[in-house]
Amino acid sequence: MAQATFVTHLECSATGERYEPDRLHNLSRAGKPLLVRYGLDAVKHALTKDALVARPPELWRYRELLPMRRDENIVSLGEAMTPLVRLNREPGEVLVKDEGRLPTGSFKARGIALAVSMAKELGVTHAAMPTNGNAGAALAAYTSRAGMRATVFCPDDTPEVNVREIAAQGAQVYRVNGLIDDCGKLVARGRDSTGWFDMSTLKEPYRIEGKKTMGLELAEQLGWELPDVIFYPTGGGTGLIGMWKAFAELEAIGFIGAKRPRMVAVQAAGCAPMVRAFEEGEPHARRWENAYTIASGIRVPAAIGDFLILAAVRDSDGYAIAVDDDSITASLQEVATQEGFLMCPEGAATHAAYRQSLRDGRIEPSDCVVLFNCANGLKYPLPPSEKHVDLNANIDFAKL
Ligand SMILES: *Cc1c(COP(=O)(O)O)cnc(C)c1O
Repeated sequence: MAQATFVTHLECSATGERYEPDRLHNLSRAGKPLLVRYGLDAVKHALTKDALVARPPELWRYRELLPMRRDENIVSLGEAMTPLVRLNREPGEVLVKDEGRLPTGSFKARGIALAVSMAKELGVTHAAMPTNGNAGAALAAYTSRAGMRATVFCPDDTPEVNVREIAAQGAQVYRVNGLIDDCGKLVARGRDSTGWFDMSTLKEPYRIEGKKTMGLELAEQLGWELPDVIFYPTGGGTGLIGMWKAFAELEAIGFIGAKRPRMVAVQAAGCAPMVRAFEEGEPHARRWENAYTIASGIRVPAAIGDFLILAAVRDSDGYAIAVDDDSITASLQEVATQEGFLMCPEGAATHAAYRQSLRDGRIEPSDCVVLFNCANGLKYPLPPSEKHVDLNANIDFAKL
């Protein structure tokens, strides 16, 4: 059934130029991401906090702030609201939003669910994207469900499990001797001869609308209050930009006030283009050469939404911070053994950044802090456990 959408138009994030909704778009004429704009006054009258309470606990509950026009085009694998898990050993209130519970085991499901649903609505039959692993896995799953083809390019050293899960869910996946931006160039190069639709981060307008739901959910879960600080593991920055957009929309519809969290972009020391640009006071970020980190999801040397990430960080009085792989590993082990929570390396990076920020006095122990565990820790290689007992030997149980 056709249903009212509150979308009024799309808008170039750099020039403000307007574009028609309900047709396929990639970047704006200026080569920048397009943002979806809604008639927020109308949403304000159509949606109440009470109405939300009665809806299923999944991301589609915010549909007045989502672009779908027809219910039957929704491609869903059960995008449940993710819990906020409190870390009990930290001095202050530290909540981890556990995105590892989403379909395909990462928060990429949010963006891809929206992008594939809209692509279906607009007649796409074949999608392509570059990936460090999780986005490709989500694309494979949602396109298969939608009856669409998918072609995915990933760097040679993408974790094996991610490459296999992409293949297992029905996409064509190719390893490439380059980084994610090199893979992105392949998607662009193949477009004319294949007609595939480019689903790269921020190169179509709807992944950001899906990722935005993290901000909507967070606000609702905290009783329409926002935390003091959000630590976000930043690759292409879709989630950070999306949450920032969500908060503005929530204020416009009267659900929250003017208070905003400080947005902290967390990067790995081996790939920190946003941190460098932040510290140099630059509005854009230069490409980071020889990028390396175990946190593969944030190994993004160049991001097309760099200026949007940096603007949100600065407007929120936040900052960008780099953590090295050793402290990521230490955080991963500590949270797993002390709190029983197996984070992904990118999630562990936010924990390491939180600790470093406390030590450096950039945040207060009394701050309410939200960390993002963006994927299930089981999607990553873990150190082997070699211990063994021999059934035929004498086992000294006291020494086990
Ligand atoms: C994609 C990804 C990120 C980065 O998210 P962006 O919103 O694109 O910056 C972080 N961690 C994991 C596990 C990811 O898959």
